[in-house]
Amino acid sequence: MSIEARLKNVQQKIAEYCNGCGRDPGGVTLIAVSKTNPPEIIRQVAGAGQIHFGENKVQEMASKMDELGDTLQWHMIGPIQTNKIRMMAGRVDWIHSVSRKKELDEIEKRAHQAGRSIRVLIQVNISDEDQKSGCEPDELPALLEHAAPMEHIRVKGLMGMASFSDDMDLVRSQFRMLRELRDKWRNHPDKRIELEHLSMGMTNDMQVAIEEGATMIRVGTAIFGERNYG
Ligand SMILES: *Cc1c(COP(=O)(O)O)cnc(C)c1O
Repeated sequence: MSIEARLKNVQQKIAEYCNGCGRDPGGVTLIAVSKTNPPEIIRQVAGAGQIHFGENKVQEMASKMDELGDTLQWHMIGPIQTNKIRMMAGRVDWIHSVSRKKELDEIEKRAHQAGRSIRVLIQVNISDEDQKSGCEPDELPALLEHAAPMEHIRVKGLMGMASFSDDMDLVRSQFRMLRELRDKWRNHPDKRIELEHLSMGMTNDMQVAIEEGATMIRVGTAIFGERNYG
């Protein structure tokens, strides 16, 4: 199958899953996770109408952003090293993987220097497997409070990764927990915090994520094929 056909297939699945649970497909943004794929492949997918791309390494994303021009939207979805934030701050549109105050501080500083505002999602650990990915649910309120006064950061929602498991009941319960957390803080007393987005769901669990309310899904393999690494 061509990459254009695989993209179309994913778009059709999103529509089908949305219809199946009474949601508007327009409420789900597809982020094509292009990590490890070269710029010419990304160009091909962009040529088929895809606008949003996700990368999990800052350096790799920075060079692709340079090469691919201004019309695409770039999402950082991987672990963040604070000393690399300046490399992407001039260009990145969304950062999904923020989970510490010092990351917020550094994004604010570098976005300010670049004269920009960056949209941020707070990553929450919903699987209990990797303690390093995401804040704990009870750390969320303090992070939101920390970010609220920042002028160059707009906190737009939450991101989570479910367990790597075929047990879709387990995966569903983890996505549901993220949605409930988002709902709880959605009408934050500080009006600068707007938790409208839920970034959750990948190739293997996108149906469950959509059923549980995902507004952004991050899909790599179903579009680009199996990765050799990364
Ligand atoms: C690689 C990656 C994805 C995409 O995973 P697939 O299974 O290839 O769809 C989504 N989210 C994050 C954070 C990733 O690193």
